[in-house]
Amino acid sequence: MAETTTKGIGTVGGYSIVRREPLDRLEGTFFELEHQATGARHIHIECSDDNNAFAVFFPTTPMDSTGVAHILEHVVLAGSQRFPVRDPFFSMTRRSLATFMNAFTSADWTMYPFSTRNTKDFMNLLDVYLDATFFPRLAEDSFKQEGVRFEFEKPDDLTSGLRYKGVVYNEMKGALATPQAAMQKAVGRALFPGLTYSYISGGDPQHIPELTWAKLREFHANHYHPTNAYFYTYGNQPLELTLDVIERSSLAKFQKIKVDTAIPDVTRFKRPTTHAEVYPLAPGEDGSKRAEALAAWVTVHTGDSFRLLAMRVLSEVLLGNPGSPLRKALIDSRLGTALADGSGLQDDYKEAVFGAGLKDINASDSVKVQQVVLDTLDSLARDGVDPEQVDAVIHRLEFEKRERSNAGFPYALKVLFSCLPSYNYGGDAYSALNFDADLARLEKDRKEGRFFENLIRAELLDNPHRSLLTITPDPDFEERQRRQELEKVAAVETSLSDAERQSIVADALRVRADQEAKQDLSVLPTLNLQDIPMKFDRVESEAATAGGAPVEFYPLPTNGVTYVDVRTDFSILSTELQDLLPLFSRVLTQSGAAGQDYVQIARRMAAHTGGIGAAAQVQSLAAAEDFVESFIVSGKALDRKLVPFIELWADLLVRLEIDPVRLKEIIAETATRLESSIPSLGLQFALLLAQGKLSSEGALNERQQGIAMLHVMRDLAKLEVGELGDVIARLQQIRTTLFRQDAVRFVVTCEESMIPSVREQLTGLVGQLPTGRPGGAPAPRLDLLDPASEARTAPVPVAFNVRTYKTVRYTDPDAPILLVLANYLRDTFLHRELREKGGAYGGYVQASTAAGFFYLASYRDPNVVRTYEVFDEALRWVLETPIEDEALDEAILGACGDVDPLESPDIKGRREAVNRLTGFTLEERELFKQRLLRVTPADLVRVTENYLAHGRAAQATVAGADLVAEARKQRPDLFRVVAPV
Ligand SMILES: [Zn+2]
Repeated sequence: MAETTTKGIGTVGGYSIVRREPLDRLEGTFFELEHQATGARHIHIECSDDNNAFAVFFPTTPMDSTGVAHILEHVVLAGSQRFPVRDPFFSMTRRSLATFMNAFTSADWTMYPFSTRNTKDFMNLLDVYLDATFFPRLAEDSFKQEGVRFEFEKPDDLTSGLRYKGVVYNEMKGALATPQAAMQKAVGRALFPGLTYSYISGGDPQHIPELTWAKLREFHANHYHPTNAYFYTYGNQPLELTLDVIERSSLAKFQKIKVDTAIPDVTRFKRPTTHAEVYPLAPGEDGSKRAEALAAWVTVHTGDSFRLLAMRVLSEVLLGNPGSPLRKALIDSRLGTALADGSGLQDDYKEAVFGAGLKDINASDSVKVQQVVLDTLDSLARDGVDPEQVDAVIHRLEFEKRERSNAGFPYALKVLFSCLPSYNYGGDAYSALNFDADLARLEKDRKEGRFFENLIRAELLDNPHRSLLTITPDPDFEERQRRQELEKVAAVETSLSDAERQSIVADALRVRADQEAKQDLSVLPTLNLQDIPMKFDRVESEAATAGGAPVEFYPLPTNGVTYVDVRTDFSILSTELQDLLPLFSRVLTQSGAAGQDYVQIARRMAAHTGGIGAAAQVQSLAAAEDFVESFIVSGKALDRKLVPFIELWADLLVRLEIDPVRLKEIIAETATRLESSIPSLGLQFALLLAQGKLSSEGALNERQQGIAMLHVMRDLAKLEVGELGDVIARLQQIRTTLFRQDAVRFVVTCEESMIPSVREQLTGLVGQLPTGRPGGAPAPRLDLLDPASEARTAPVPVAFNVRTYKTVRYTDPDAPILLVLANYLRDTFLHRELREKGGAYGGYVQASTAAGFFYLASYRDPNVVRTYEVFDEALRWVLETPIEDEALDEAILGACGDVDPLESPDIKGRREAVNRLTGFTLEERELFKQRLLRVTPADLVRVTENYLAHGRAAQATVAGADLVAEARKQRPDLFRVVAPV
């Protein structure tokens, strides 16, 4: 870039460079550009990362709840002018080594992002993304399939009853059924009356049928235009090349238009308001103490990076950890057990919303919850905010800025999200990204005194734009909605003429025929098998000891962050103690220690670390039907915080103090959280339940993370504070059994130069642990769960169906074939049958090559019986339909992507340590990849015969009670066991 500009300002192609700044956090450069002819904006982050990213987003501000922006997102992905195939995005996932591909609809924008480490792949995906967004086909049939349509229950039978069908229609029925969704709806409606936020951008099933194809196309024309487009690129690819493609293929075909997607500021209230919403409760469930209350304010403009930073810091100070004053006051009030949904700062509105409240309350206590919030804020504004807490939050920001982690989400895109409000709402994106200047200003203003106290007054206490939001459970909600829908459809049905009925059948059959039709995918760009890197990086380590305990050091460029894991084997605990590990994981990091209460410990954690977490993990062996039971505590800290970081570890592992009152709070909060996440945990619960029927490893995972764990937590939640003595003794017994000098091993990832000081600190830590072996024999391996097919009923209006098979371990030559089979089945059959035809949000096939399982599953599915029939057909499909070379190559390419996930230093050392422990050596992994390339059609048929058609299988469903009852009516033999979750 250097030669094209002077002082950072100049042009590239048809673009003006508006701004160019150094970006220290990435040792890179920030570019802001504008396309001269159309006004399209572009931010580019030039840096040495080879995981290159692209995103384009459009402000989309619908003024109704028909879900137009969301349905458009789906239809845009259903074929474009240059790529007129049914599902180019989905097809590209099998022709690409993308490290991320997705599309999102938020309250006021729609975004299409991807990332990849392969240059050719980047250009392929760029072509497909640009054509999809600017030149989609927007076919009427795609609109009907993805949005909503009438269809007879049996599509070709006029008498089988008229129904609404459609992917988004079903998706939103599931998505809106949670208390979280009800709270989000309340925030939008109560705080932003008259603005786009007062509607449900994803679509309300009651209003989705009002959307027409014409309105959808009009919405596209007005919003998906370069003048309304925000581009983002990141990585080491030359910017000129990318801009050239964007300009030639897309922008050159447009002229600037007038767009109006600006969102006005909300008219501020003269006095606070109240607002209530309901969420569905399953029949028979106890609805007492299941309400939520949130006091919520509209505060600063999110485009103002300094004021947003100040509010973020304030919000973290108030609520960020268990020791934060507002969080503590709310929990101490005992009105509820956990923070309400929507607590904290939400910056995805043009004006940020701050909320604080409690869940698990009596609805009548709503006003009391608000009073706790107001009283606490008032005393903080009067008596002052603890400056040490502010320091701790600022330390946390510094940590986040320094860490370049791909954990969870590619860093390449995290960078975009960290400046999105400023970029989207016309603020200073560079300041938001590189917040040194804002931080310096904050420190200066703080020194002048009472900064945060004044902020509490100005934005909260003296700000009348507040609403008290109350969410209550409604046991009749689901039934009422179902009846309303049936009545509405029945009314339509009686008014239909014969011709209209016939045309509904014809539409359905045409859509079906199109889904079945063979597509010419050769128009899509693709990677070839030769493009796949066959080698894995060798990760070097240094073996050492600290006070006799083994330490594996992984020296990597971590940008000044040290990552420490301590691993210990939990198989020496009795089964009864193992069942308490999910609770112990939380207690270990959320209690008091060494004479300090949990508030002081939480403050130390915030001030000196980037977080410490703990979890039991069951790790599969590569070569044997066996596993390792690891309890792992993981922490990270800036290098200069090493000493207080390890001191904190020592206090937690050696001097943990479990107070019964605090324990009661932790149990209550955990149980509440679990209950309210059942709608999102449905697939996990069904899967673990099914796998527990096939291996003792599966049974152990079920007890640690499945329905069994939920039941343990529910039972614990029934105990009163005075009855917890025995639980505390057992938790302490877990700690003193697991953390002994001869039982612990460490894995450390850090800068090479840090090794000696880390070793010295760990030696000090080990010296404080008890010596000697605890008595008792290891617990026996768990028995398999009851093999009968099970259905668990849950408060959800959809189903999660799982069939899983027991297969082979990683080093078996059939394991790579099973992985290819999973990709093949998903791409050629299951996605079409379950999502496109069946209306499920997802249809999955996975080979978990480590634990030796193969499963078929559906997510947010309106069907049960039909889905199990599709699972049966899936086997016949492989056995009876010729397997084409192109489809096989795509499945192999997909499998290669599966075995080569995106890493970063924080993940790399950790993953390598587990690989060594379990036998996933570099040689085995490279052999696995070579075997992938050699898979033949005959192999796929053979493993289908051996492991699926004639293998051991288990089935489990988690679904709404009416779906389960309906399934039992159709197929009385489908489930042998039926019980609530
Ligand atoms: Zn969707």
